[in-house]
Amino acid sequence: MPTLTRTIAILPPEVARLIAAGEVVSRPLDVVRELLENALDAGATRLEVEVEGGGLRLVRVRDNGSGIPAESVSLAAVRHATSKLSPKPAAALHVTTLGFRGEALWAAAQAGQLHLVTRPASQVGASEVLAHGDEVTVSRTSAPAGTTVSVSNLFAALPARLRTQASPAAEVREITALMGRYVLHHPELHWRLTVDGEVRLTHAPADTRGAVASVYGPLSSNRVLNVDAVGVSGVVSRPELTRARRDRMHFSVNGRPVLAPPELEKAVLEGYGELLPAGAAPLCVLNLTVAPEDHNPNVHPAKQVVALADLPDVAARVREAVAEALAAHPLARAAPALI
Ligand code: ADP
Ligand code: MG
Repeated sequence: MPTLTRTIAILPPEVARLIAAGEVVSRPLDVVRELLENALDAGATRLEVEVEGGGLRLVRVRDNGSGIPAESVSLAAVRHATSKLSPKPAAALHVTTLGFRGEALWAAAQAGQLHLVTRPASQVGASEVLAHGDEVTVSRTSAPAGTTVSVSNLFAALPARLRTQASPAAEVREITALMGRYVLHHPELHWRLTVDGEVRLTHAPADTRGAVASVYGPLSSNRVLNVDAVGVSGVVSRPELTRARRDRMHFSVNGRPVLAPPELEKAVLEGYGELLPAGAAPLCVLNLTVAPEDHNPNVHPAKQVVALADLPDVAARVREAVAEALAAHPLARAAPALI
C-alpha cells in the first residue's frame, strides 16, 4: 500500500470543485440526462438532442420550454442555484421536479464549456450564457422561445477522466437507450436524437404503444396490451413476445425513468404467472404514480435509484395491474402449448 501524506490538508478550491462536479457529470450520458430533465422540468413539449463524438465533443439539448428569465439567467450555472426549491430545508423532502440540486449546469461548466441560449415566450430578447470553470459571461441575443444548452469539449482539461471514458460507440448506445426510456415514459412529447448529424430516434406525440413503435419497431408495438390501473399505467407485452434478458422492462416513478428495482420486475413476472415461460422476460413500460412524500429521489446522484416508502404495496399493485391487463385479452390467456 502506498504511504499517503499524513497531514490533513484542505484541497485547493479548483480541485475540490472538479471532484464535486465529477459526481454530477462523470460521462456524456450524465449531461444528456441532466439536460433532458431540465427541459422536462421547464414543461417542454419538443426535445431535441444532438450528440457528436460520443458526447465528448458536443451534447446539445434544444427545448421549447419556459426559458429562463433575463433577470435570473446569470445564476443558471451557479452552484446550488435552482428555481425548483424553496430555500426551506423541509422543501427538499417534497420535490416534484426532476432537478432540484442546482448543480447540473454548474457541473457541466466545470467539466466542459457550457453555452446556453434561452428566451421565455413572454420576453422579447434572448439571453446567451457562456460558462467555463469560474468564467461566466452573459449577453443579449435573439432566439426562439425555449432553451438550447450545449456542452462541448467535455473533460478536455481532465486527462484522467478522459482516459476512463467508454468508447464513443458504447456511449452513444447508452445515450440512445436513455433517450428511448424517456420516449417510452413520455410518449406525449416530440423527441429527436441526432448522432454525428444522423437522426437516430424520432417520436411524435402518441400513446405508450406508439412510443414502443418508435423505440422498438412495429413488430413489438403490435404485441403489447394496455395497462390501466390506479397508479400503474403503460403496456405489457403479450406472453408470446418474450426476451431472455430483462432489458426491455421499463419503469418510471412520477415521470422519472428509474432503474427497475428487482421487486418490481418480480411483481411483473408474477402478474404473468404461468403465461410466461420460465426464465423469459416480457417487454413492459410501466408508469407508477406515488404520493411525493412516499418517494425519495434524493438517494443517488443521478437520481435513478428509486426509494419507495411502501415498495411491497406498490409491487402488489403492479402485479395486479399486469394480471388484469392479461386477463382482459382472450388471446393472451391461451397458455403456450406444452410440447
Ligand atoms: P436544477 O435543475 O437542480 O435546478 P440545474 O443546474 O440543472 O439545477 O439548472 C439550474 C436552473 O436553471 C434551474 O433551476 C432552472 O431554473 C434553469 N434551467 C436550466 N435548464 C433549463 C431549461 N432547459 N429551461 C428552463 N430553465 C432551465
Ligand atoms: Mg437540473
